[in-house]
Amino acid sequence: MGCIDAYNRSISYLRISVTDRCNLRCIYCMPEEGIPLKPHSELLTFEEITKIVRAAASLGITKIRLTGGEPLTRKGIVDLVRMIASVPGIEDLAMTTNGVLLQHFAHKLKEAGLKRVNVSLDTLKPERFRRITRVGNLEDVIKGIEEARKAGLTPIKINMVVLEGFNRDEVVDFARLTISEEWHVRFIEVMPVGAEAEGNLGQYVSMKEVREEIERALGPLIPASLKGSGPARYFRLEGAKGTIGFITPISEHFCYQCNRLRLTSDGRIRPCLLSDFEIDLKSAIRSGATEEEIAEIIKEAVRLKPERHQLEASSFPSGRAMAEIGG
Ligand code: SAM
Ligand code: SF4
Repeated sequence: MGCIDAYNRSISYLRISVTDRCNLRCIYCMPEEGIPLKPHSELLTFEEITKIVRAAASLGITKIRLTGGEPLTRKGIVDLVRMIASVPGIEDLAMTTNGVLLQHFAHKLKEAGLKRVNVSLDTLKPERFRRITRVGNLEDVIKGIEEARKAGLTPIKINMVVLEGFNRDEVVDFARLTISEEWHVRFIEVMPVGAEAEGNLGQYVSMKEVREEIERALGPLIPASLKGSGPARYFRLEGAKGTIGFITPISEHFCYQCNRLRLTSDGRIRPCLLSDFEIDLKSAIRSGATEEEIAEIIKEAVRLKPERHQLEASSFPSGRAMAEIGG
């Protein structure tokens, strides 16, 4: 059901950034030296996060995604998964990860109640992976995806941010992978947000171009559907095991069907990724707010969710990093 906002959207999905820390430094997300980190005391504790999830569930939120920063770098993350999975009303619990540590966690996460993972992977070439992430090792991610598959954290979605001058020439290779593997590859338009906002503008590639390129090389894309599909539009190549999705925050905004709220790693509810408006929940919790009072604050955030983002009107958000907000 969800909680209805001022534009008649049913809000049923909460994305939680569990840490602002990350073990990679992707060029479109973080500067090489990283972002100024919040002291641990400013991050929500697991008990606080779970209390917020309970309050959200009482309003009809049924789906939670853990993200970051890199969620697998948060100490005790498996315990947090277990705590959230046991909240009545939470039907779907997923994670977005860069996959670097996934090979070590996949089975434990599944056992704790995680349902599935989205893995961010922008290239299939080892040196290029190092260039885009500055520090990462491609093989770790491939092993992570394989372990996630074995653990049953499926369907596994692979997120590829398409970047001019970095990986654009690999879109057909990624699309081809969906023929033989049950991979659900989602191509994403890079957004001018966070510390790297200006640089990202020059790397933008529209999904229209990506789609045309794939169809020229591999044949027509047939409309398909996928569980928990969110803002992506899905297609399938003839006879393919996996699917291909396109996420178009810039060329074709999907705000009219946005069903989500975000919780930042330092405890603020953010109704829209691309607007800096936030409501502080952490102070309320730390001054003793009850679950009902927290639910009231969440309702207020839903009420104030903007109708749509204003990116193309050139008012970029002030530069909170994606890692803090939970991209
Ligand atoms: N560290 C995890 C990961 O990389 O999957 C979770 C956090 S990351 C911020 C979540 C997603 O946001 C990733 O798929 C990443 O590629 C995407 N992302 C980060 N910065 C972006 C940007 N400027 N434009 C589009 N997507 C972005
Ligand atoms: Fe880290 Fe994810 Fe940002 Fe890459 S996209 S720097 S993995 S938070």
